[in-house]
Amino acid sequence: MSKLGKLLIIGFGPGAMEHITGCALAALEESEAVIGYSTYVDLIRPLLRHQEVVGTGMTEEVSRAQEAVRRAEAGQTIAVISSGDAGVYGMAGLVYEVLIERGWTPDTGVKVEVIPGISAIQSCSSLLGAPIMHDSCTISLSDHLTPWESIAARVEAAGAADFVIAFYNPRSGKRTRQIEEARQILLRYRDPATPVGIVKSAYRDRQQTIVTTLQDMLNHEIGMLSTVIVGNSATIVYEGLLVTPRGYGRKYSLGADTQVLKPHERLRTSAEPWSLAAALAGGEASTTGQTLAGPVLKVQAERETDAVNAGAVLNVGYPPEVNEPAAVGLNESPPGDYVKVKTCGFCDLRKEGARAAAERLFQQLNGRSTPRELQISVTGCGMACNSAVLEDIGLIYSKGSFELYLGGKKSGRAAHAGTRVREGMNEEEAIAAVTAVVEQYCAQGYPNERFYTFFERMGRGIAVNFTSSKSILHAEHKHLQNPESAHRRTAVLLVGHGSRVEEGNEELRSFSSLLAARRPELTIETCFIELSAPSISEGIDQCVRGGAGKVYVVPIILFAAGHSKLDIPMALDQAKLKYPGVEFIYGRPIGVQERAVDILMDRIAGAMPLSRPQASARLETAAALLEEEAKVPDEDTIVLIMGRGGSDPDANSDLCKLTRMLWERTSYKSVEACFIAMAKPSLNAGLERCLALGARKIIVLPYLLFTGVLMKQFSETVNDFAEAHPEIEVEAGSYLGSHPLLSAMLLDRIDETIAGRTAANCDNCKYRDEASIHHHHHHHHHGEEGHNHGSHGGEGHGCGHGHECGHGHECGHGHHGGHHGHDHAQDHHVHNHETTVGVPAIAAEEPTGTLTPSDISRDVLHPATAPKAR
Ligand code: SAH
Repeated sequence: MSKLGKLLIIGFGPGAMEHITGCALAALEESEAVIGYSTYVDLIRPLLRHQEVVGTGMTEEVSRAQEAVRRAEAGQTIAVISSGDAGVYGMAGLVYEVLIERGWTPDTGVKVEVIPGISAIQSCSSLLGAPIMHDSCTISLSDHLTPWESIAARVEAAGAADFVIAFYNPRSGKRTRQIEEARQILLRYRDPATPVGIVKSAYRDRQQTIVTTLQDMLNHEIGMLSTVIVGNSATIVYEGLLVTPRGYGRKYSLGADTQVLKPHERLRTSAEPWSLAAALAGGEASTTGQTLAGPVLKVQAERETDAVNAGAVLNVGYPPEVNEPAAVGLNESPPGDYVKVKTCGFCDLRKEGARAAAERLFQQLNGRSTPRELQISVTGCGMACNSAVLEDIGLIYSKGSFELYLGGKKSGRAAHAGTRVREGMNEEEAIAAVTAVVEQYCAQGYPNERFYTFFERMGRGIAVNFTSSKSILHAEHKHLQNPESAHRRTAVLLVGHGSRVEEGNEELRSFSSLLAARRPELTIETCFIELSAPSISEGIDQCVRGGAGKVYVVPIILFAAGHSKLDIPMALDQAKLKYPGVEFIYGRPIGVQERAVDILMDRIAGAMPLSRPQASARLETAAALLEEEAKVPDEDTIVLIMGRGGSDPDANSDLCKLTRMLWERTSYKSVEACFIAMAKPSLNAGLERCLALGARKIIVLPYLLFTGVLMKQFSETVNDFAEAHPEIEVEAGSYLGSHPLLSAMLLDRIDETIAGRTAANCDNCKYRDEASIHHHHHHHHHGEEGHNHGSHGGEGHGCGHGHECGHGHECGHGHHGGHHGHDHAQDHHVHNHETTVGVPAIAAEEPTGTLTPSDISRDVLHPATAPKAR
């Protein structure tokens, strides 16, 4: 072997020449060859003179790394280039992995040098202002090499720990869901108003920076060339710039020339009550202001117009007996999750009435640890100089009594005043009320939950807990008047179908409790469209009685059809009239999803063989044993999925789509659809069809949520068929019911409804208006039902109401009960569900002409398919 070469692994920064370090330039100069992704090579092309450019055609990182190592081993000095820093989702790690694989050691192997570059987190942050001033992390949202579960767990952890997060690889052509999921996770920990910066192509052509919020970020372009930086709870936006304060405001008056704390005082433990030293020194007291020279109310100067942290001039107020200016060192309370009581200056107006209350509150509550920093502001007069109404908790002394405001948010996009929940309280009552609120927040607030979020979540639940008082409770009245400013509990109302078989209703109820257990922060109620109690309207009553200001109504329904398009929206219309102050937000049915196909695959795996009467006898002989063991191959097996079926082509075709998706993922001869009610082909016809197609084995699966009358019918029919056809194997699977993916899908539906991500909205759908008119008058206007809006279908919510107008589910039932005796202009009901579709029918349906069933191969059965990858 000749002399060993050298690997120079170079990060060349975001893209601009000026951001390439001198060291990287020298390394490029030194190298004989350069290897890298062609876009990157192009970016630095002007710097290359004598170097050979290797394999820009190599799109695979792995082959580039291997080639680089090979060349270095052959004696070349080769530069491996990455954008940004080569050690941050770049080539450095991979090159080392390839080397390690070959038994490389630093002493005996090729020389390796990693040359640092400016990574996207840094370049993008510079363009945004100073978002990563405090603890931050990077998370790549690419799940090509990392299990999504790990990524989600990291997002969750970073969210909970309040890191500023830079998302790399946030989105590509195919990877679009990841950033949505990540945002969803963060919304559990961060305010929707949290600042977010999106930087595309930092320091390259077509550079673009966007400043938005966690709430709105998805409304902006995010692509492969973007980095998304999500602020932490302290990040602010100022003049379009993101800034994450590091905490200087805790010790310094940033707007003043002279500092209250002298340099030698600043590092004292007493000046850093939040420090580890303070915690070790004094336990609880050390985390409060009381470690400063005596008990002190730490006050921020806040005139009405002052912004949160503006307080350059101290406008300090403290209880008279500790009125000792030297004791006050900070213009901002120490950070940390505990109660901070502050007051106005009790100025010349001398509203002494509030001072004693402030003092008592301070003594009782200040420094108490809370789920999250809690600001209590006490004001001496109606001028409310320290903006008590904007605080978490504001107590205002006015005209001889106290008013209590809760849940204000004084900055940020969604800033709002608190809600006045009480007035006319004396000092005792005021203190009792504030203490009760703080107690409740400590007991029931989630870790890190802001007070106003807590207040919103608890709604009136928080107010009713007040103890002694003769004062008036305003909250309830106000909420009903003005849902916008209402801080009320949000409820989720799950709507199931209901069954004549109580066991099915029970299954639905326990399914709901399972969901409730997974979302403990929500109040989840369950109701039924029909056949069981409570009804939808009773369910709504229950939510409103529980204090709900918003009710998220989420159907536990497989496909969009009459129930989800008409019955539930109509019940909601009535509810809106009944409760004008309550907001109702409607979710989507489960719909067609890959996860539904996953469930079906599992149900196939768990399917049980049906009545094979002679089987045990035949098992006696060895030959029979062999036969028994000879599994019917997938190519001779047909899966038959049975849906409920209805008059809405939308839902029926959704089932067919699922069968298609399942077929694409398996190697069965065919996957067929059939229906147990109203739609064709019926279950019997579907089974016959499988026979006619030449199945040696049929696996039948009910696509139903829970047990019920239809399940019983299913079992009987399939059993009968199996008995009548001993020559073929028949297996039956279970309904969806307890499958964990079903709850996962429902949780998604709940989450997206709360996040406002449901696609459409039935409220202003003209077809529904029309439909509801027909619905109400269907007895008289049956002849009109031919009009069809079936093509007006949206994402689940779209209303393919056409048929439903005359045949809303209710009348569908009534129909069979016989009170629609008159002539249908266009009768598309299948009155005889059991019509058998025999071989001729298939020949007519399939463009396969004269082929006999056994000739019908998989591909012929599905002529529209492009050849699928196996
Ligand atoms: N080694 C690179 C990261 C490579 S991963 C570094 O340290 O920066 C690719 C991701 O990096 C992109 O999806 C994008 O999120 C981010 N990125 C790289 N260069 C960028 C740039 N100039 N502007 C914005 N984002 C960039």
